[in-house]
Amino acid sequence: MPNAVPLPSCPCGSGNSLDDCCGRYHAGLPAPSAETLMRSRYSAYALGLIDYLLATTLPVQQTALDRDAINAWSTQSTWLGLEVESAELLGGQPEHAFVTFNARWHDANGEHAHRERSAFVQHDGRWYFIDPTVPPKAGRNDPCPCGSGQKFKKCCAPFLN
Ligand SMILES: [Zn+2]
Ligand SMILES: [Zn+2]
Repeated sequence: MPNAVPLPSCPCGSGNSLDDCCGRYHAGLPAPSAETLMRSRYSAYALGLIDYLLATTLPVQQTALDRDAINAWSTQSTWLGLEVESAELLGGQPEHAFVTFNARWHDANGEHAHRERSAFVQHDGRWYFIDPTVPPKAGRNDPCPCGSGQKFKKCCAPFLN
């Protein structure tokens, strides 16, 4: 009797198959939490899904992202693993969250480990990564670029420093 072919396991390390884990979000289902979005972004790096990495960054930041650099980092690295240390929901309207994680990868220069506390915001039922390397274009009293309708300084500005 032939053995069933095992489904590929998800790169985020959840122990589930890709289809039962981050693959659903790559296919368009909104990630239900900042942590699942973060995990699916790690998996997207591992799988080379650059469009997904762009689409899950705060929309106003997307055009400022360097697609070629993201693609190079994604494809020239071997992604070794992810550990999510904590996810903090901050409450408020809109909801913000921090996810603290450790990611490991290997490239031409050797093995790397990176610990980061990333900020996320939920808007219209979707979570977005707030990229701290993309300078904000809004003034402090302008409407927040996340689309919440709040003043920038009271919404996402504190997460961009
Ligand atoms: Zn996953
Ligand atoms: Zn905002």
